[in-house]
Amino acid sequence: MTNKSILKPISKYHAISVLVTGAIIFTSILPSALNEFSKGEKIKDKTHLETLLRQEKKKLGIENKDINVYFCDRIETSSARKINENSYEIKIANNQRTTGILDHELYHIADGHCDKSYNTLKYFFIYEPQATIYELTGIKF
Ligand SMILES: [Zn+2]
Repeated sequence: MTNKSILKPISKYHAISVLVTGAIIFTSILPSALNEFSKGEKIKDKTHLETLLRQEKKKLGIENKDINVYFCDRIETSSARKINENSYEIKIANNQRTTGILDHELYHIADGHCDKSYNTLKYFFIYEPQATIYELTGIKF
């Protein structure tokens, strides 16, 4: 056996373990970091939430999409998902009731992240950073 044939599987394993470790660190730090630094004002109530939803949909050019938004006290991290053709749902965790989080979840919908089949690497290394940058800066990538 040559050195090359021994090293090849080790380096592949190493690359995968570095990616997985990175993703774990990123996802464990991100939610609490977002709670600390998330921009925007606190969302007062359901009426305030609906008003912000209309404004932000217009800003992102997705007025045609049917989006239902709820506050949810059973979750720690807010999320967006597709329920039907052109129909989406956003759950805002009680500890994340800020305009920044709403913008973040709406960005996922506007950029089509919820329309694609789930891919862990794309989610953590492309979609999530994009939505976070939009949340913090208002810049669309
Ligand atoms: Zn996200």
